[in-house]
Amino acid sequence: MFDHPDFDDHEGVHVFRDAKTGLRAIIAVHNTNRGPGAGGTRFWSYADPKDAMTDALRLSKAMSFKNAMAGLELGGGKAVILRPEGDFDRDALFAAYGRAVEAVGGRYITAEDVGVSPSDMRVIKTQTDHVAGLDEGPAASGDPSPVTADGVFRGIKVAVRHAMGLESLKGLRVAVQGLGHVGYGLCGHLHEAGAHLIVTDINETVLAQAKQEFGAVVVEPDEIYSVAADVFAPCALGGAVSEVTLPTIRASIIAGAANNQLATPEMAEACRQRGILYAPDYVINAGGIINVAAEVSGAYDLNWVSKKLEGLENTLKLVFERADEQGVATTVIADAMARERMAEKRPSEGLG
Ligand code: NAD
Repeated sequence: MFDHPDFDDHEGVHVFRDAKTGLRAIIAVHNTNRGPGAGGTRFWSYADPKDAMTDALRLSKAMSFKNAMAGLELGGGKAVILRPEGDFDRDALFAAYGRAVEAVGGRYITAEDVGVSPSDMRVIKTQTDHVAGLDEGPAASGDPSPVTADGVFRGIKVAVRHAMGLESLKGLRVAVQGLGHVGYGLCGHLHEAGAHLIVTDINETVLAQAKQEFGAVVVEPDEIYSVAADVFAPCALGGAVSEVTLPTIRASIIAGAANNQLATPEMAEACRQRGILYAPDYVINAGGIINVAAEVSGAYDLNWVSKKLEGLENTLKLVFERADEQGVATTVIADAMARERMAEKRPSEGLG
């Protein structure tokens, strides 16, 4: 473990097995200096359990960075459940997982991630209170996607102001890849702000809807990179910016919701060299975890969420300015700032 390439001085890596239900889970707590490690639970079929460990280690570290940059009193944690082969009792499995979360004693707070549904969350909640992102209950924050979309929209405005000196998005062309929960909501904000939309997805229904509702121009998935646009907003899967796609991207700003937008870390410097301003994904897409953090505080407060989104804008602006001053990629600055903030004790301002 200590020699694992993705081990980054994680505080705790907990492996759980419950033979009766078939549970095999890993809860990785990266850093709790700012508060309990918070991050979703992924439920996935892994070809090799080693891949599950790699995911848990990488994703929990990414959550420490994201939570620190969003100014939350949360550390980084993430869990993976290895999907059992064949038939299994889903409720029993998630109840056993809930007991595992409880056993970590509050140093990890879970939420939804890929493969986990609101009903699974309700089952986990029967075994532990260290859960957020619920869709019912007194402080329930529900679907975080609209807040993520709001944060990305604000981030795009910051990027446009920085790179183009413009206060308005009116008349700008934004290419949006992926019209799911976040991407579609983002299109709504952009349309309202007067931007022209060029969109793609693999789902024909949402494309037809965007065409009708926003007058969006629809292109094929592999055409979205090279369309004439001012901003490219990846809102589908990871790895959108790669050695193959980057040379074809015509936008001068890349700012979107997707996690892990860069296929390799080197792509950040490659963007800079091409004169493209890249908004680090874990900074611009933190709206969702901000929403979850509001629930963790015990009393969901819309004003608090809005204040944190303003914080996201300020942080992004600072990242852009420092990257320019120092002549380095935006991710170099963001990573360094995240490490600094992780080293700080809990901020004085409370969650409430
Ligand atoms: P989603 O599953 O609702 O939407 C993804 C969309 O991308 C779908 O409409 C899908 O059809 C489309 N898509 C898939 N493959 C595509 C392709 N090759 N080309 C074009 N479109 C394609 O997911 P979401 O919740 O909207 O999240 C989008 C991204 O943002 C993900 O990377 C997610 O990890 C990240 N993210 C989401 C949140 C959130 O609050 N939901 C928060 C932070 C980050």
